[in-house]
Amino acid sequence: MSLLAAMSSSMDDRPDLVRVGDRSLSRSRLQGLAAAVADDLHGLDRVAVEATPTLETVVGVVGALRAGTAVVPVPPDAGPREREHILRDSAAQALLAAAGGTSDGSTGTGASAASGGLPVVPVDLRRVSGSTHPEPAPDRTALILYTSGTTGAPKGALLSRAAIATCLDGLADAWAWTPDDLLVHGLPLFHVHGLVLGVLGPLRVGSRLHHVGRPQPDRYAAAGGTLCFGVPTIWSRIGAVPAAARALRSARLLVSGSAALPTAVFDGLAALTGHRVVERYGMTETLITVSARADGPRRPGAVGVPLPGVRTRIVDEQGHDLPTDGSAMGELLVDGPTLFDGYLNRPDADAASRTADGWFRTGDVATVGPDGWHRIVGRASTDLIKSGGYRIGAGEVEEALLAHPGVREAAVVGLPHPDLGQQVTAYVVGDGVTGPELVDFVARQLSVHKRPREVRLVDALPRNALGKVQKKRLVDG
Ligand code: ATP
Ligand code: MG
Repeated sequence: MSLLAAMSSSMDDRPDLVRVGDRSLSRSRLQGLAAAVADDLHGLDRVAVEATPTLETVVGVVGALRAGTAVVPVPPDAGPREREHILRDSAAQALLAAAGGTSDGSTGTGASAASGGLPVVPVDLRRVSGSTHPEPAPDRTALILYTSGTTGAPKGALLSRAAIATCLDGLADAWAWTPDDLLVHGLPLFHVHGLVLGVLGPLRVGSRLHHVGRPQPDRYAAAGGTLCFGVPTIWSRIGAVPAAARALRSARLLVSGSAALPTAVFDGLAALTGHRVVERYGMTETLITVSARADGPRRPGAVGVPLPGVRTRIVDEQGHDLPTDGSAMGELLVDGPTLFDGYLNRPDADAASRTADGWFRTGDVATVGPDGWHRIVGRASTDLIKSGGYRIGAGEVEEALLAHPGVREAAVVGLPHPDLGQQVTAYVVGDGVTGPELVDFVARQLSVHKRPREVRLVDALPRNALGKVQKKRLVDG
C-alpha cells in the first residue's frame, strides 16, 4: 500500500478533500499538482519546504513524497539562525515555496536570502501534470523533522515512510478514524503533530482535512469537524470560549498532544463539549507511541496505552526495570516500528538516545499502571525536581497551582539551592494573586516538600510554536 493510500484510491472525488483557510482541493487536483512538483524534484534526495499553513505546502510535501525526495519543513517564523541551521544541517538541495507569494502574505520564489542560496522550486497551483511516479521503497526517508528545541538545539530526526505509515495505521485504529471523518486543526506544519498526523494522516486514511489557519476557537467551532486536533494551549483557549466549545458537541473525537493537558482543561471541556478529550503521547523521534482509544476510557492526566507493536519500559537511573503497578516513576523507554532512523549529523545524540540493548530513551519520566495506562510525569531534565532527598514531579505542583482560580498559567522548575540541591520554584501568570497565598494554597493540597519555596509572578511564560513551555530558559535565567 502506498504511503498516502487515499491519494490512489478510486473513491468519490470530493471537491474539498483538503482545505486550508478558504481554498480547497479535490483528490484528483491534488494528485495532478503534486505530480508536477514530483516532476520538478525528480532525482533530488532532500528538499526543504517553506512550511506555511497553506495549500502550497500540502502540495509541495505530497509532491516530494511522491518523488521519493525527503522533505525538510522549515518553520515560517524561524529566525535567520534557525533557518540557516536547518537548511545547512539537512543539506537540502532546493527549497519548495509558493509561487509568487500566497494569500497570507508570505513570499515564495526569488527570496534568495531566505532560501540560503538554494534554488527555489515554485509550487504553482495552476500547474498540473499527469505523470506517474513509482512508489518509493518503505525504508526510504520521507521526512527530516527537527525536534522542538525544548531542551537544546533542534535535532534533525530521519523518519522513514514505513514508520509514518505504521504510526498512522495505529492511530486510525485507536481513534476509529475513517474516510467519513472531517479532521479540523490549526497546527503548524513543521512538526509531527500538524504535518504527520494532521496532513499525512487524512491523506492515508482518506478523511477530509480542514486546516483553519490560525488556531482560533471560533474557527474550530465553525469548521464542523468530526475529529479535532489541538495542543493544550489551543484546548485551554477553546475551553475559555464556551460558545466555541459547545459547538464541538457535534464532533466525534477531540484529541490533545505535544504537551501535558491540564486536568482543569480536560474537565472544563468535558462539561462544555460532552467529550472527554483523548490524550496521546509521542516525540519527533518515535512518532506517536501511546494513546487513549476511541472505544475505551479517557483519564485526565494520563496518556493511554501503547499503540500496536509499541513496547515500553520504565527504568531507574541505573537502567534497572521498575515495577509497572503504578507505584514507581522512572525514565520511559520505547521500542517499536515507528521509531526514527537516527539523528542527522549527531552521532553523539544518537549514542546517548539508546540503551545498550537498543531501547530508545525518551528522556521523559513516567509511571505505568497495572492496566498499561501511562502517565507522563515530565522531562527528566527539567520536570523531575530533586529537593532535599525527595523526587518531585513538576506537573503535580503545576496542577495544584492551576486549581487556583487566579492562576492562568504555571510552570514549576527546580533551581539550584545550596542546601536542598534544588528548590521548587513556580513561575505563575495570574490575576491578582500573591506568592505567599499560592504557597499556602499548594501546601493545603500536597505534602510540604512539594510546596514552592518561591513563586515568581510573570506576564507570560516562554513558549514555542506548539505552546510548549521552554523550561530550559526558566532554569537558565
Ligand atoms: P527537543 O527534543 O529539541 O528538546 P522536544 O522534546 O520538545 O524538543 P518534540 O519531539 O516535539 O520536541 O516533543 C516531544 C516531547 O513532548 C516529549 O518528549 C514529551 O516531553 C512531550 N509530550 C508530547 N506529548 C505529550 C503528552 N501528551 N503529555 C506530556 N508530554 C508530552
Ligand atoms: Mg525531545
